[in-house]
Amino acid sequence: MIDNKDSKKRYRVDHLIEAHAETLDKAAGEALLAQMDELLKNDDFNGLRDLIIANNIKCSVSGTLNWTDVRQFNLMFSTQLGSVSDESSEIYLRPETAQGIFVNFLNVQKTGRMKIPFGIAQVGKAFRNEIVARQFVFRMREFEQMEMQFFIRPGTQKEWYEYWKEERMKWHLGLGISKEKYRFHDHVKLAFYADAACDIEYDFPIGFKEVEGIHSRTDHDLGRHQQFSGKKMQYFDPEINQNYVPYVIETSIGLDRTVLLVLSEAYKEEDLSKDGKEDSRVVLSFPPKLAPVKLAVFPLTKKMVCLNWPRELMADCKQDFYCFYEEKDAIGKRYRRRDAIGTPFCVTIDHQTKEDGTVTIRHRDSMEQERIPMSSVRELVRQAIR
Ligand code: ATP
Repeated sequence: MIDNKDSKKRYRVDHLIEAHAETLDKAAGEALLAQMDELLKNDDFNGLRDLIIANNIKCSVSGTLNWTDVRQFNLMFSTQLGSVSDESSEIYLRPETAQGIFVNFLNVQKTGRMKIPFGIAQVGKAFRNEIVARQFVFRMREFEQMEMQFFIRPGTQKEWYEYWKEERMKWHLGLGISKEKYRFHDHVKLAFYADAACDIEYDFPIGFKEVEGIHSRTDHDLGRHQQFSGKKMQYFDPEINQNYVPYVIETSIGLDRTVLLVLSEAYKEEDLSKDGKEDSRVVLSFPPKLAPVKLAVFPLTKKMVCLNWPRELMADCKQDFYCFYEEKDAIGKRYRRRDAIGTPFCVTIDHQTKEDGTVTIRHRDSMEQERIPMSSVRELVRQAIR
């Protein structure tokens, strides 16, 4: 880490230099990153500070080069296990969720009778002592990761890496987000154990930033577990009659960061002014399958509260998806409140419901309303959230 003495702002040195490299042309950027990697490898802190000053990398807040020395920062949180604290009881909170998967690799393979290739995925908390948190859920000290380790035969990593790049991008586009909002960022300088790595970046309101990492990690992780635990991490491949330590393709995506992505994508302020009358609304256009509340049920007026239909409709739907009931305020106000938290469908029950069993369904994005039989509401919503 390094601090700017004027703004008192703290930076991670690698992030500071990387951000600057992005502003340079490709060759100059790569040269700068290569210099940085060399200095990092040698723990040359003075050299890193000199590099920052030589490249005129200023603090974005104060605009000055008034930097402190570079200091080491521990990215892992340590704590004590057990009641007697001595050095041997020091443990660390996991900075990623992958370890559990590697340790349990053989358990899962044997009990699940799995054949390579196969993957293990999980979601869980990870902890990093980030230097600059305070970026809403984009970067936190306690966050949630969704990781997958995909175990493959050595030598097939190139194809599987490409396969997972494509599959993961398909997943992102499947959220209903346009292609232009995403890009791949291929790592030029690789970690010593990796043979390919890239990030999937999304165009947040603060610019293109990583949401997911895809890494071809060779047999590094399982190999190291085997080496230090003395326990074999090998798989017998019946197709080629051979034992080997599998290679791994890893996909790692932040759950909280993905929520931020979905929120950034969905948030809209719309101007609805018409005929000189000013009007506007805030709407969260979540794809229906991601909306936390799928359906709101409203009796048109308080008088209808005593009728049974709103309750009947709620009872019909709430086993299948999350619904919300409300009778307060004018109907227009209720619609706007639902727009603001992204409920895709609102159903209003009125006098006509008694006569012909129909209700008004209002669509969040188009604000269009139509009359449909109350008995078809559940199926309509179910189809939309599949
Ligand atoms: P960054 O470059 O943003 O620090 P990273 O390269 O350290 O991320 P990975 O170790 O590849 O991230 O972690 C995988 C994913 O976990 C990231 O793509 C991101 O979505 C998420 N993530 C990482 N650190 C944090 C954090 N501090 N808070 C929230 N999400 C995080």
